[in-house]
Amino acid sequence: MSNISLEFPDGSKQEVAAGIKPAEVAASIGNSLKKSAVAAKINGFLVDLQRPIFQDAKIEIITSKDAAAVEVMRETAIFLLSAVLKQKYPEINFGEHQVNDEGFYLDTDKADAQVSVDELEDLKDRMQKLIAEKPEIERQMMDKKELAEKVQADPYKSALVAAYDNVQIPVFKLGDFIDFGEKALLPEIKNLKYYQLLSVAGAYWQGKSSNPMLQRIYGTAFLSDEDLQADLKRRAEIKERDHRTIGRELDLFFVDPKVGAGLAYWMPKGATIRRVVERYIIDKEVAAGYQHVYTPVLMNLDAYKTSGHWDHYREDMFPPMDMGEGEMLELRPMNCPSHIEIYKHHIHSYRELPIRIAELGMMHRYEKSGALSGLQRVREMTLNDGHTFVALDQIEDEFKKVLQLMLDVYHDFAIDNYSFRLSYRDPANTEKYFDDDEMWNRSQGMLKAAMDDMGLDYYEAEGEAAFYGPKLDVQTQTALGNEETLSTIQLDFMQPERFKLTYVGEDGQEHRPVMIHRGVISTMERFIAYLMEMYKGAFPTWLAPIQAMIIPVRNDLHLDYAQKLQDDMRKLGLRVEIDSRNEKMNYKIREAQTQKIPYTIVIGDREVSDAKVSVRKYGEQNSAEEDISMFIDSVVADVKNYSRT
Ligand code: ATP
Ligand code: ZN
Repeated sequence: MSNISLEFPDGSKQEVAAGIKPAEVAASIGNSLKKSAVAAKINGFLVDLQRPIFQDAKIEIITSKDAAAVEVMRETAIFLLSAVLKQKYPEINFGEHQVNDEGFYLDTDKADAQVSVDELEDLKDRMQKLIAEKPEIERQMMDKKELAEKVQADPYKSALVAAYDNVQIPVFKLGDFIDFGEKALLPEIKNLKYYQLLSVAGAYWQGKSSNPMLQRIYGTAFLSDEDLQADLKRRAEIKERDHRTIGRELDLFFVDPKVGAGLAYWMPKGATIRRVVERYIIDKEVAAGYQHVYTPVLMNLDAYKTSGHWDHYREDMFPPMDMGEGEMLELRPMNCPSHIEIYKHHIHSYRELPIRIAELGMMHRYEKSGALSGLQRVREMTLNDGHTFVALDQIEDEFKKVLQLMLDVYHDFAIDNYSFRLSYRDPANTEKYFDDDEMWNRSQGMLKAAMDDMGLDYYEAEGEAAFYGPKLDVQTQTALGNEETLSTIQLDFMQPERFKLTYVGEDGQEHRPVMIHRGVISTMERFIAYLMEMYKGAFPTWLAPIQAMIIPVRNDLHLDYAQKLQDDMRKLGLRVEIDSRNEKMNYKIREAQTQKIPYTIVIGDREVSDAKVSVRKYGEQNSAEEDISMFIDSVVADVKNYSRT
């Protein structure tokens, strides 16, 4: 066999026989490296110690002390999990698997019922047993054709093999179980100690919703128990803060792929929060000079052809409905053309500008099924939308006004963890955008100047602009650590041109207005998801779906009084319930706390005779006796002032 040259991390080179294995390279360097090696990197790619090398390459031996060894642990865990699944269910098929920063996953397909979350413990036990047996994994290079025959019973594996360019594929065998791919497994299986199986969820084969739904098993593995425990703790905290967990525990909303993926159902309590938010923002906008309107969710497709959405945004749109006789209707993905129609309905004079049209506009976007997440990313959403039509020389002033509105609103919701992003077009990909270099340069410059002028910190991001113009986005983080846009202000010179919008200027001539698209609190869906996570479900009184829970000590003696108190509070617009169930008082108090209700009021003999209430605030250990009217006044004041508690 011919020779190849291997280059080591220190730059030194060595001639070796082609076909040498990384394990042999490690052994040739020294005994301790031979023992501690777990994998190698060949030209930066992680490979198994038994994977022969046939070409000149850069090589790095990975030991159990290197961070890259985590990947080997996770690959090994996937392999063992697959092996025990195959033992348990000989008919099971496997889709893709992946190791990533979060851990690993393995897609499975079982003919009858899918693998369930209750089984994870059993699967882990089986993995432990298998590890204790110190099994030998056989590793070899196999001809693509031979491998294809071996996996032919599994349609997914067959497709994965077929997708390989190489003729020779690394294969790993344990008894009858066979797996393959460019990856590294631990040389000694017994060293896999710190791993955990975490959860299961549906996932489409290769991420396409037209493909079969497989069952994805999630897990993770680490180099030390300390790392594993820290990760499990972090996961528990995230889960507790995840709006999907809070939404379920407080019964606020649900999304069920069986009734429609990405289509949210707002339960009464979630709907109450939404209604409060909607009323709040409408009032705030009306006070800021916006005119609120209602426009249809359906529109003639031609409008989206004119607006450019059909050319630039089609992927995210639901397919048009062919109504016959040439009529095509489209579910709107944005409200802009609707508000343009409102603007066009009358002739406008320069004296009316800026004209601010706003709506809580429902829209539909066909988001990829893999991207859907609770209320954060949905397919039907209601945007706190607004379009301001301004003269050129009003842009900067209006931009600042919108920004000020945002800052005021954030203050009321106690939002203070966000950053400003100036979103520009991607200079290397200009065909994705409205074609007018001068417009882009000018409007990007304008936004930047206004931000500098207001002394606000921001960062710049190329490629994040809308197709019709640059934006200022306000970025926040979800509990899962994803960055999401909460608010946005967008400049648009294009749509006024396309829709031939005009106003009559001081000179009596027609002029083009500029449009500013803006969303202050995003969609109701994303915003309320954000609030759930930010408040960890403990909404301040003004937003809480139930603001106070009254608990009579005895229904026969105290219920009347409780009802009168409820009536009085309800008349003032407060949301008050009575827990008159036949349960122990302490149980009811505990439950009111679990439901994160701001005030729990206990009514007993003393309260009735002294016109007092015994009040326990959410999160506090003790109750305090308060005069009824003073208590009610303080709650009303909290609501009015958007108080943070
Ligand atoms: P993203 O980048 O998050 O997809 P976008 O830039 O396409 O958003 P816009 O067209 O500016 O969003 O929409 C206005 C606002 O609507 C966004 O700032 C975002 O907060 C919210 N939003 C967008 N898509 C969704 C969705 N699928 N579900 C819930 N809210 C959404
Ligand atoms: Zn718009």
